Amino acid sequence: MAAARDYYKALGVSESATPEEMKKAYRRLAKKYHPDANPNDSSAAERFKEISEAYSVLSDPEKRKQYDLMRKYGAPMGGGARGGPRGPRAGGPAGGVRFEDIGDLGGFGGLGDLFSTIFGRGKREEAEPIEITVEVPFRVAALGGKIPVSIPVTERCPTCGGSGAAPGAKVNTCPECNGRGTVSFGQGAFTVQRPCPVCRGRGRIPTKPCPTCNGQGEVSADKRLMITVPPGTDSGHRVRLRGQGEAGASGEPAGDVIVNFQVQPDPFLRRVGLDLYCTVPINLAQAMLGTRIRVRTVDGKRIVLRIPPGTQPGRQFRIKGQGIERNGSRGDQFVEIAVEIPEKLSVEDQERFKEFAEKAGLKH
Ligand SMILES: [Zn+2]
Ligand SMILES: [Zn+2]
Repeated sequence: MAAARDYYKALGVSESATPEEMKKAYRRLAKKYHPDANPNDSSAAERFKEISEAYSVLSDPEKRKQYDLMRKYGAPMGGGARGGPRGPRAGGPAGGVRFEDIGDLGGFGGLGDLFSTIFGRGKREEAEPIEITVEVPFRVAALGGKIPVSIPVTERCPTCGGSGAAPGAKVNTCPECNGRGTVSFGQGAFTVQRPCPVCRGRGRIPTKPCPTCNGQGEVSADKRLMITVPPGTDSGHRVRLRGQGEAGASGEPAGDVIVNFQVQPDPFLRRVGLDLYCTVPINLAQAMLGTRIRVRTVDGKRIVLRIPPGTQPGRQFRIKGQGIERNGSRGDQFVEIAVEIPEKLSVEDQERFKEFAEKAGLKH
């Protein structure tokens, strides 16, 4: 979308500038930025276009009047819209003015473009995607599976069916918009329509608002879904669920949901890339004499691992192909050995160990 423009700013004049002041400002700037004076300078050319456009609107008393009105009623203009109370803002996540047809442009060549420049017309009111973070148990993330999620959406109020009226309340025509649901400013090519701020675009007003939704017609709700977690999912991986989010405004498709996965740690396995790491403690005798241990894999299998005599603490053993599988490749599982030293020995055991140490030449 092109940047929204403030014509007063473009000319460097105040909102109360007289036609004479505007003319002066325009002449000065037009001279400065004229393409003849700035060959091959695209930013000057752009500025010149902007100045000309601004002056063509502001120098015409009727166009200026309409422009001022639109400006006052809260249209999104970069850095502009000073002064004057803003009108109530239109609904919808994007805020700003919602357009209907601006009608016949005869005689005003190019004003359609001008409008889209000012108001960002053409930006469809698609529902914004909802982003959620979902915690996934370690094994579900590793192996893939299903997990329930709850998505915060706004739904039509079940009590009033979206009308905003309390059950049994009378519904009258909105006096502000006479039931049209929209109010408009300006005339001819400059007509701007927006939802009526009094009835919120419904055209009707209940004598008593719905107590469930306070007359809003919609309530927040949690939409529950089971989603698929792809095998090998890691923290930071995302999936996009098309059309599972907020309902779109007037016929637009429903918004998406972006799911950020956060994988819960496992008490035994740690993941690094596609590899898995674990630490298995053995006792002193096992380390010195060798042993066989059983190691749990991510699939829940128990694999027998032979520990040779004289195994040092911190030594790593690799179990091939027992890591995380993702997109056709699979990592390994590394088993790090920790050796537990007995913390307390009986006097008798101490004596026996000293005897052993002396024979083995171990200084102590
Ligand atoms: Zn309601
Ligand atoms: Zn109304």
